[in-house]
Amino acid sequence: MIPDCDAAIAAAGGQITAAEPQAEGLATERIDAGRGGGRMQITAGLHSLGNEKGGYVRAYLLEEADGLTLVDTLDETDGSQVFAAIAAIGRQPADLKRIILSHGHPSHIGGLAALKKASHAVVYSHDWEADIVAGRRAMTKPPSGLFPPQKPISLYKFQVGAALGLGKKPSCEVDRHLKDGDHVGGLQVLHAPGHTPGSLAFWWSGKRALLAGDIVTTWPEVALGWPQITLDNAQNRESVGRIADLVHAEIVGTGHGDPIRSGGADVMRDLVRGKAVRPDIATT
Ligand SMILES: [Zn+2]
Ligand SMILES: [Zn+2]
Repeated sequence: MIPDCDAAIAAAGGQITAAEPQAEGLATERIDAGRGGGRMQITAGLHSLGNEKGGYVRAYLLEEADGLTLVDTLDETDGSQVFAAIAAIGRQPADLKRIILSHGHPSHIGGLAALKKASHAVVYSHDWEADIVAGRRAMTKPPSGLFPPQKPISLYKFQVGAALGLGKKPSCEVDRHLKDGDHVGGLQVLHAPGHTPGSLAFWWSGKRALLAGDIVTTWPEVALGWPQITLDNAQNRESVGRIADLVHAEIVGTGHGDPIRSGGADVMRDLVRGKAVRPDIATT
């Protein structure tokens, strides 16, 4: 047990309880949608989780041979959407073996402490992000341009929140650091600096799926992430182009908004070139 996590959960008033099981769903069917979210099976064994909270933030639950892998942990601090998804596919929190972070921004690490406590999963991130996740270093604020608000205006509250460091989440230790070329479970690790220096994307070759974190977003529009809170937009563009050429993804699971279901690498390439895109978004 990690003392940091226990203290953080107590401070946050969190409780560790698995949510009620939900009805099992068919492939690509959205379950418990509410407004803008729930659990959606993108393809066999790969689920997108999240609702409108945190800027339509998304996490991804992977069914692997030796257990479950979670990529990012959503905004809420009690992990309830993740626990509900685990129950809905007939599994237990203890089946969660790995929690892998795309980066350390608050809306992606909300449930981390609660999920680690319940599952004893091993937590992974890039080493640049690990001290932020552990609460020992503040996230790096975007250099400029937050005031007046930039387009799209609908993102203004997130721009401000990110700039001021609001929404700080329970801290939790990262157990292992990842670098480009590493493998975790069935995922290949791709270093994708730009949004943050330690941003990572993950390639699940068996599913032709790229889990991209915030280097690409589909909410509120399909874009190379949110430029207002991306620390180096030119570097992010380079990262997206490199990865699009490297892994030829069909599915692209983004950090905010529903996943691209097919032709993902082409969409990424078009974004890098500044072309208009009309992706196949898995909204069901
Ligand atoms: Zn981010
Ligand atoms: Zn984000």
